[in-house]
Amino acid sequence: MSEGAAKKEEKPRKFQAIRGTRDLLPPETVLWNRVEQTAHEVFGTFGFGEIILPVIESTELFARAVGSDTDIVSKEMFSFTDPANVIRTLVQDALQAGPGVDMGNFEQTSQSSIEGKVQFISLRPEATASVCRAYIEHGMQQLPQPVKLYYRGPMFRRERPQKGRYRQFYQIGAEVLGGSDAPAIDAEVIEMVMTFFDRLELQGVQLDINSIGHSADNCRRGYVQKLKVALETVQDKLGPDSQRRIETNPLRVLDSKLESEQGIIATLPRIADHLCEECAAHYAAAKHQLEMRGVLYRENWRLVRGLDYYMRTTFEITAKGLGSQNAVCGGGRYDGLVELLGGPPTKGIGFAIGEDRLILSLQESGKAPAQQGRDVYIAWMGERAHATAIRAAKDLRKAGFSVELPPVEQKFGKALGQADKLGAKYALILGDNEVSEGLWTLKTLADGSQEKLTEPQLLDFLRKS
Ligand code: ATP
Ligand code: MG
Repeated sequence: MSEGAAKKEEKPRKFQAIRGTRDLLPPETVLWNRVEQTAHEVFGTFGFGEIILPVIESTELFARAVGSDTDIVSKEMFSFTDPANVIRTLVQDALQAGPGVDMGNFEQTSQSSIEGKVQFISLRPEATASVCRAYIEHGMQQLPQPVKLYYRGPMFRRERPQKGRYRQFYQIGAEVLGGSDAPAIDAEVIEMVMTFFDRLELQGVQLDINSIGHSADNCRRGYVQKLKVALETVQDKLGPDSQRRIETNPLRVLDSKLESEQGIIATLPRIADHLCEECAAHYAAAKHQLEMRGVLYRENWRLVRGLDYYMRTTFEITAKGLGSQNAVCGGGRYDGLVELLGGPPTKGIGFAIGEDRLILSLQESGKAPAQQGRDVYIAWMGERAHATAIRAAKDLRKAGFSVELPPVEQKFGKALGQADKLGAKYALILGDNEVSEGLWTLKTLADGSQEKLTEPQLLDFLRKS
């Protein structure tokens, strides 16, 4: 059977977006653009520059940075091997072996070199690891420190889709890398997010902060030990997730939203009582710096964040109208991360905003823009009028007006109906009479009033209206 014949037999099939992904349509995309434009403006005023990162990275980058015990890395990443790389490895081996190669031997060497060279790739589940990778790869430690970068774009996690939780979702985030770990930096980064949310008039914004102490070998280790012992004594009263976490990641038990566990969690030891002197001083200074900036916060000792790389300051921001998925921003300090990824010792702090949830919250509080109608619908009839209409459309668009120019001739009645449906403000009526007189008719659709205008008068009239 020829290829053509085989194709003909395929039945038409309707496709749907993959589970957990979705299309964003106008007019909603107007709001997305406004949010991103506001981020550019606000972050720019704080001296941040945009970094555009690849969507795919080596799987190991996330395993190391985010942590292989985290939910994200252990079960939520979309990962694959790069087949092109496998084929290239095979071809290179064959070429190196030269003619007359012993095939038995060839298979063996290929097998071992594939294992050594095959690339494991993941769709990024977050972007902090990538920013740190880029910082190291481009020697950004040579630049004046700290380096302040922001990013936006899609992230991918294989989670159970629900309101505010998708498998492809969008984040806007920022990182401050290098320089000192002065608490004023922590406070300024938080001030920047709050300024951004304020500018967007996000409703019900609540900032929670905490300090989770110094990395594993300092005060945090002592606390986690105590927490573990305390958790073991109440083990039987905890659900299966928390029971598992006693071993894998005891801090995450504090994150639990299970109603039945809340009473037990309230009795657990608190990190604030176990911070070392330096961490306690850093935390106190960060809070003072927030107060100096007029940023209102609430201390939340249970705020631990799910990623391994965080230390000291952690924060989360929630907003209105989101149900149980109400966190719109999470962030914190991660001083050891760049070094863990093979770079020089580097301080770091950053945050990631869930753009989908931010938009949902704005929509819930009525901040969504209405469908954008056209400014002018050009109703034309006749060949000469068509030529004039094309020219008029070009001039009006150049002046910044949104213009709908129907591709085929319509009766004026039908054209006006169409203009109405599209929410146009004006209909420009161009028939043979108008073209020969050089006087065009502009109808205001809201009240039906009409003006007779020359071509230059038309632009003036629209600009003033
Ligand atoms: P959550 O506790 O809600 O799962 P998280 O701790 O996994 O959040 P982070 O990894 O800190 O989230 O990401 C920062 C922000 O990105 C979150 O506060 C949230 O707004 C958003 N986010 C995370 N996962 C998703 C998702 N699957 N769909 C939509 N937004 C998400
Ligand atoms: Mg999560």
